[in-house]
Amino acid sequence: MEKIQWQIARVKAIVQETPHVKTFTLHLPQWIPHLPGQHYDLRLTAEDGYQAERSYSIASPPEKTGEIDLTVELIEDGEVSSYLHEGIEPGDPLEVRGPIGGYFVWKDNMANEPLLLIAGGSGVVPLMAMLRHRAKIGAANPTTLLFSVRTADDAIYRDELEQLAKQDSQFELILTFTRKAPPGWTGYQRRVDQAMLTDVLKRFASHPNGFVCGPTLLVEQVANTLSDLGLPSTKIRTERFGPTGT
Ligand SMILES: Cc1cc2nc3c(=O)[nH]c(=O)nc-3n(C[C@H](O)[C@H](O)[C@H](O)COP(=O)(O)OP(=O)(O)OC[C@H]3O[C@@H](n4cnc5c(N)ncnc54)[C@H](O)[C@@H]3O)c2cc1C
Repeated sequence: MEKIQWQIARVKAIVQETPHVKTFTLHLPQWIPHLPGQHYDLRLTAEDGYQAERSYSIASPPEKTGEIDLTVELIEDGEVSSYLHEGIEPGDPLEVRGPIGGYFVWKDNMANEPLLLIAGGSGVVPLMAMLRHRAKIGAANPTTLLFSVRTADDAIYRDELEQLAKQDSQFELILTFTRKAPPGWTGYQRRVDQAMLTDVLKRFASHPNGFVCGPTLLVEQVANTLSDLGLPSTKIRTERFGPTGT
């Protein structure tokens, strides 16, 4: 397979999604349509030649041509995320290559099958690309997003997700708050656990395609529990973003 080349993207816009999360819209001279779930590699080069490279999932659907949205959480003392948050402005160049990844992807031939998306924190980013694409193609497959966040302030894309759930009777958004729920909240207020996954799986008449993304610990626990609950391992796709738990 031909190696994907590095290219210099231009930052078109920056949106503050939550206090710790920004979305960067990049205009790409060589834009290639992606599959929802794929990512780009981003490389920073210092004046002395030192380089740091990280992966960032594509948040936008392939219907948004010529550009991609990358949504980046600011990690305390994080080399690349803090530079992106504090040192990058619209108009700046950024070196990227992609789209990359062929396993953690939602393909159009899955559009008639039930879909279970489970995210912790910024793990929602590639799942958002799937939901945005699903809406664009008008898929009507039963779909649930179980989204674990610390507080209401950390729920990335919350307005858009709630809007999607309102418009689409086949899409259900389930939030769980692990640190502090908003006042009056009657939903889940704990980490994703077996009882929660049992409840969520009950909503499906047949085995859904499962996509689990977020901190390593959450992804491993959720994938193991889904498997214990009888979801075949061929139906569980995982993507680990980092070493910590929510
Ligand atoms: C395929 C893939 C897709 C990804 N997509 C996204 C995305 O869409 N949005 C996004 O924000 N991140 C995403 N990540 C994570 C991203 O690649 C970086 O790991 C993250 O931005 C931290 O890099 P950094 O240089 O800021 O921190 P580093 O300097 O690498 O690390 C600083 C400290 O933070 C810890 N750390 C590193 N990563 C994380 C993390 N994710 N959570 C908590 N602690 C961490 C490290 O152990 C270290 O102690 C993705 C990772 C992969 C593998």
